Amino acid sequence: MKTQILTTPQGESYPIVTGHNLLAQVGQMTAERIKPCRIMIVTDSNVAPLYLATAKKSFEDAGFSVFAHIVPAGEDSKSAAVFSELLEAFAEAKMTRTDLAAALGGGVIGDLTGFTAGCYLRGIRFIQIPTTLLSAVDASVGGKTAINLEHGKNLAGLFHQPKGVYCDVDTLKTLTPHEMADGAAEAIKTGILGDPELFSIYEKSDPANELVNIISRAVAYKSMIVTEDPEEHGVRKLLNLGHTAAHAIERLSNFEISHGHAVSIGTAIVSRAAVKMGIMKSDDNTRILNTILRSGLPVKCPYSASDMAKIAAVDKKAAASEITVILPETIGRCRMHKMPISELEALFASGLEDEA
Ligand code: NAD
Ligand code: MG
Repeated sequence: MKTQILTTPQGESYPIVTGHNLLAQVGQMTAERIKPCRIMIVTDSNVAPLYLATAKKSFEDAGFSVFAHIVPAGEDSKSAAVFSELLEAFAEAKMTRTDLAAALGGGVIGDLTGFTAGCYLRGIRFIQIPTTLLSAVDASVGGKTAINLEHGKNLAGLFHQPKGVYCDVDTLKTLTPHEMADGAAEAIKTGILGDPELFSIYEKSDPANELVNIISRAVAYKSMIVTEDPEEHGVRKLLNLGHTAAHAIERLSNFEISHGHAVSIGTAIVSRAAVKMGIMKSDDNTRILNTILRSGLPVKCPYSASDMAKIAAVDKKAAASEITVILPETIGRCRMHKMPISELEALFASGLEDEA
């Protein structure tokens, strides 16, 4: 078991605990920091039959008064309608400012629960119990919460920091290989950004045997970045490695290509482009592409540079006429590259050549 302590921008600290067989202990662990109160466990229709009973019992045994709300599994639950339904469920359970919400599930549940907890009564406390690799290495860290609007993803959101993150790696065993690969894409990204040892787990070892190590390394890097730049004015932009192309790819595929798979293609694109620009050695590019492929993820892009550039130009992250693209320099170091949006197509095009 590994415990990491994070400090929020408000100067409060909270634990991120990663280990085996944690779900049965999560109530006790939470009670060590939060006086038992009402707790509303929010989960989805896939996770509930697998883990809700264990989580419930754990909180009940620790003295909490437990309520649960189950939403349909899937991205569609990050909606205004489900948000509204969840607010009503909080009210129905007579949740007060001193009560607690718990997100038991993947990034969808984390974002939805965090957003609802941040709005209900102008903000109540919440904890995260991530059950996907993606939420463990990425979504549960950093305090970003959101729901989607008809106009686009994550358009309504707020920063609301959890009071604790408890990841039981045994719960990841019921994920599909595709879902594990989605999380791996963000972990590999983190390795390229700043942790060559994390990268090398995916390059050379069996990641299934190193989940606590992978998650705690990814958490350490992301938390360092978000502590320095909580609201993404500077270094937090680094976390968008591979994401400019990825967002375009997701949209062009009508979200048939999942986020992690799109991030892998996007990472491959900037990796090849960085070699062409002379800022990264070709050997490093080869290692990056091979490691992505070894993890069951794609490096080949099904779309044209011009279609992707058009979509990226209207992306909310593109401020005015310039865009910051993250380019790898070596495995473990990347740079922020500000450029005119008009040059994005050429950059994508240079990253599409020489498909591995
Ligand atoms: P998800 O929550 O939809 O989970 C993926 C699928 O796995 C779902 O069908 C879910 O029901 C199922 N599932 C979850 N845990 C399981 C388990 N242990 N066993 C079996 N099935 C399980 O999606 P995700 O990939 O975890 O997260 C994606 C979401 O996270 C997106 O909405 C994205 O915008 C968000 N996100 C947020 C941040 C952030 O900083 N807030 C960062 C990255 C991603
Ligand atoms: Mg991402």
